[in-house]
Amino acid sequence: MADRTVLVTGGAGYIGSHACKALKAAGYVPVTFDNLSTGWRDAVRFGPFEQGDLADPSRLAEVFARWQPAAVMHFAAISLVGEAMRDPGTYWRVNVTGALNLIEAALASGCRDFVFSSTCATYGDRDGVVLDEDAVQTPLNAYGKSKMAIEQMLGDFAASHGLNSVIFRYFNVAGADAEGEVGEFHRPETHLIPLMLDAIAGKRPALTVFGTDYPTRDGTCVRDYVHVTDLVDAHVAGLHWLESGRGNRVFCLGTGTGFTVREVIAQSRNVTNREVPVVWGDRRPGDAVSLVCGSERARRELGWKPARSTLATMIADAWRWHQTGHYET
Ligand code: UDP
Repeated sequence: MADRTVLVTGGAGYIGSHACKALKAAGYVPVTFDNLSTGWRDAVRFGPFEQGDLADPSRLAEVFARWQPAAVMHFAAISLVGEAMRDPGTYWRVNVTGALNLIEAALASGCRDFVFSSTCATYGDRDGVVLDEDAVQTPLNAYGKSKMAIEQMLGDFAASHGLNSVIFRYFNVAGADAEGEVGEFHRPETHLIPLMLDAIAGKRPALTVFGTDYPTRDGTCVRDYVHVTDLVDAHVAGLHWLESGRGNRVFCLGTGTGFTVREVIAQSRNVTNREVPVVWGDRRPGDAVSLVCGSERARRELGWKPARSTLATMIADAWRWHQTGHYET
């Protein structure tokens, strides 16, 4: 077992690439496992790369045998609510069987520490409530349901095989590495802040706001935005937690403060000093009205201290990356 080696699935993606940077800085060797379906080869900058698909158990076995990782950080997943509403089968198949193959490959190689990227989308709608780890989970779409199934799967393998896991539930991750080495780059882009920055920069005609008649303070959906750098710091702290004590624990990662889409637009105008071209559109099926999650447990038990998760800093970091950074391959 290579003590400092961590297999990072989805390491070529937005959050996974930032996690690799944080792991390297903390003295680990992050080995990226990614099928490049949505990730970028160029984003793998902090450790070795193994191209492969979670649907392929023999490829997974080969990678575990080669690197003997001490732990797994599992980010690889498909994660779009709209797509999950249209094509639930793909969400169940890719996310759930992918995780199952990964857990079985890890256990077969003797690796028992697992950090899992889950989501507040496992909660469904909870308007006005700050969600925590004990809130009841009633996901609204196949994306949230597939993540919830994986959480339960980890519990089963904890009981049967002594698998240790840290599960992080988070939702709206924003911003980019302050040093500009990696950032958010989805093709196609579906997320609010990068789409808004595209509209500001004239790369698309306008941002369409999905719904203005929600029961919120200004009619648009409320989300809790967390800076990607803070988020991945929590993942490294989660790994340390597994190394020191072992066990199974869920942590919510949010700021406890939600912002409406209109508030995010207003803040983007302030940060960039430019107008945001907006089209006021219909609701997007599957969207929760409001998702805000607290992080008391992560602060208390992991010593997590988000440092960059103000809306202004997240948008400023995303804007800097938007203007200078991108991937070619
Ligand atoms: N949103 C929007 N227009 C867009 C993309 C997103 O109004 O083009 C809204 C969406 O309805 C949600 C919030 O922005 O309330 C965040 O959406 P995003 O897709 O970024 O993340 P999600 O919350 O779906 O994970």
